[in-house]
Amino acid sequence: MKNKIKKYAAIGTIAIMGLLLANTAVEKTVTLISDTDTSCVTVYSGGEKTVGRCDNEYKLAEKYETDAEIYEDIQDNQFSTPIIETMINDGYLLGYVDQLKAEGWIPQDFTPAGSKPSSTAQTETKAEPPADNQASSSETKEQPKTETKTETKTETKAEPTQEEIDAAWEETERTEATCTEDGKIVYTNSITGDTKEESIPAAGHDYEVTETADATCTEDGTNTYTCKVCGDTYEEAIPATGHTEGEWKVTKEAGLFSTGSKEVTCEKCGEVLDAEEIPQTCPLPLAVVIGVVVAVVVIIGAIVVLVRRRKNI
Ligand SMILES: [Zn+2]
Ligand SMILES: [Zn+2]
Repeated sequence: MKNKIKKYAAIGTIAIMGLLLANTAVEKTVTLISDTDTSCVTVYSGGEKTVGRCDNEYKLAEKYETDAEIYEDIQDNQFSTPIIETMINDGYLLGYVDQLKAEGWIPQDFTPAGSKPSSTAQTETKAEPPADNQASSSETKEQPKTETKTETKTETKAEPTQEEIDAAWEETERTEATCTEDGKIVYTNSITGDTKEESIPAAGHDYEVTETADATCTEDGTNTYTCKVCGDTYEEAIPATGHTEGEWKVTKEAGLFSTGSKEVTCEKCGEVLDAEEIPQTCPLPLAVVIGVVVAVVVIIGAIVVLVRRRKNI
């Protein structure tokens, strides 16, 4: 039994060892491949680097790498002098021209073709070295970097089109109109910063009758109007209606020798509007009647006296 276990253990270890060996072999091949990749040797002739191992791929570098990364690639011997010059002429690495000259990657008399920003950067940096010469080599290294950066910034700032400006108006302030005063809306253009105003016309009051004091026969009444929106009020007079005459009414019947009375009042408020006297029913005044009676009695008495005297004779 024990032997069997030992056997298996031995087989196991051998298998593991085999695997490990295979692994290192793979690693070795990998390093080999990468070695061949890096083994593209740069050939020096007459101070220039005539062959770079990634010369064929410089277009990719232009497309996908920043100037700083391409510069690192150059330090890594990936590009030859003609290719570096081509890339500069394509408009890349313009900020590194002086550095590359100082380090001998491109000849001192090399001038980038075309592209304005490079020429200005060059003339400026070229003017400096003679004054301070080699002591200021670190300065000249850094200067072009910042210059090219600001230049590209101004170039990418495209002028906004009129359509974009027209679409950039936004409402930034609003004052609502009241019943009596106009409101306004302020629009600000987010691109140009200009402002413009639009007025909102005043709506006017919206009145309703909220209180009524009725007019009487003799006194005016009032309607009170209140604005539903702002509460402003005003009063409007209701003219007095005036009395309405009713029918004449007898207040005291006339007697044979006494007068009566009658009056007319307002149907609504009962005020006596007019009163009149009713004459006595007998057409002759009382004194006249008494006078007549007295006269008749006197005449009868006289006749009686005269008749008695004639009988005595
Ligand atoms: Zn109002
Ligand atoms: Zn009345």
